[in-house]
Amino acid sequence: MKIHEYQAKTILGKGGVAVPEGEVATTPEEARAVATRLGRKAVVKAQVHAGGRGKAGGIKVVSTPQEAEDAANALLGTTLVTFQTGPEGAPVNSVLVEEAIEVKRELYLGLVIDGTAQGVVVMASAAGGMEIEEVAENTPELLLRESVDPVLGLLPFQGRKIAFGLDIGPKLVRPLSTMIANLYQVFLDNDCSLLEINPLVVTEDGRILAADAKMDFEDDAFFRHKDLEDLRDTSQEDPLELRARVADVSYVKLDGTVGCLVNGAGLAMATLDVIGESGASPANFLDVGGGANEEKVAEALRIILSDPNVDTVLINIFGGILRGDMIAAGILAAVEGTEHQNRRIVVRMLGTNADEGRKMLQASSLNISLVEDLGNVAEAIRASN
Ligand code: GDP
Ligand code: MN
Repeated sequence: MKIHEYQAKTILGKGGVAVPEGEVATTPEEARAVATRLGRKAVVKAQVHAGGRGKAGGIKVVSTPQEAEDAANALLGTTLVTFQTGPEGAPVNSVLVEEAIEVKRELYLGLVIDGTAQGVVVMASAAGGMEIEEVAENTPELLLRESVDPVLGLLPFQGRKIAFGLDIGPKLVRPLSTMIANLYQVFLDNDCSLLEINPLVVTEDGRILAADAKMDFEDDAFFRHKDLEDLRDTSQEDPLELRARVADVSYVKLDGTVGCLVNGAGLAMATLDVIGESGASPANFLDVGGGANEEKVAEALRIILSDPNVDTVLINIFGGILRGDMIAAGILAAVEGTEHQNRRIVVRMLGTNADEGRKMLQASSLNISLVEDLGNVAEAIRASN
């Protein structure tokens, strides 16, 4: 689960990480009041669950409370489109008003789970403020990495090594290594999957501050953090992904035209590849899970069909506990007698009660092509397009 910059900064502040002074505002008047309290030059920052706000006009430097009010007025209620939001953008319902900082250097600091190293990796770069993916791609030598042993934890020398690697000067080595240690603790305490400070700023007066903060919580550990539930902002979530979460279906919206409903994440990934090989592109990833029932299958299919980009649906099921007849009943429940009655659906079904399921679908009036193996799936998608 993602949270806003202002929420992440509150958590960081409590964890001993230096952040600029500021407060969130949801109206222009509140923004003015915060700027008045700060009593100095400020920045007004659109709060959306995406980066790239600076380049998209979502961050405004202001000198007076009136300017803060105007900036908030211009941002609140709009939809901000950045390279990370996709063309549909994200609604700006709040702004963070915080003290403007005199930037001397912009650095990058990020903590993520590295599956290969089986633990947290701390990444840092002197090329802050830039897209770190670009740095990794074009100038990998500028990206410093320290893998943290999960048993030993982050060791003091690792923080110092990063500090020296960034060449921030002897005075800031200790503050930076302390900050890295505190970030690591925040990461662990909250079961984060990502904690990114870009830019980490060295100020003209020689301090280091987290000028931006991106925090993402690991969904599978979220049950341990009921208190963090209040930080959820569903206005920032894709409506179909939100609906899928309620239905307990793992769904990721993509931008192609072939909707897919699959059981098992591995089979779902393979199915995306098959769609790609057919020359089409997938509209989503969807794993309905092994323990699904008829209603869950039906809701998953309704979610897929609600995506206006979908022209064909591919259902690829290897039945175990999830039986073929149950799948067929779910499909019929979602489609028969609805506006989706004539939608093109390609079904590949194997395993428990697959024959029963296929018979049920054949007997229906739906526009269904039944296929036997994955090779035919690609053909059937091509034929239906
Ligand atoms: P993002 O574009 O969504 O990642 O938003 P950031 O919070 O990273 O802000 C983008 C850029 O705005 C930063 O890289 C800075 O260059 C600039 N910026 C943000 N806050 C300040 C500030 O207080 N002072 C100055 N001088 N620049 C700032
Ligand atoms: Mn940033």
